[in-house]
Amino acid sequence: MVTCEFCNKEFKKKDSQINLSSRNFCSKSCCQQGNKKGKIVECFTCKTNIYKSLKDINSSKSKNYFCSRICSSVWIGKEHRGSNHPNWTTG
Ligand SMILES: [Zn+2]
Ligand SMILES: [Zn+2]
Repeated sequence: MVTCEFCNKEFKKKDSQINLSSRNFCSKSCCQQGNKKGKIVECFTCKTNIYKSLKDINSSKSKNYFCSRICSSVWIGKEHRGSNHPNWTTG
């Protein structure tokens, strides 16, 4: 078993493929993504591995990354939660 360089998934690699390339990708799309300049980062909210381009990484002020707007708003909501009233959503 080898580990995909892009998504960290374990997969079987054929001997013939091992000889073709020293880099390990589970799929064509991972190979394409893996060859891009960028990084796999963890979504700060749900811990999903996501690909961010160098541009995205450099433009992030908080250095927190999110897989989706939903996850980023969850985080923003937590950060800005002012009160701990359990029933604050009612009304
Ligand atoms: Zn992969
Ligand atoms: Zn997420």
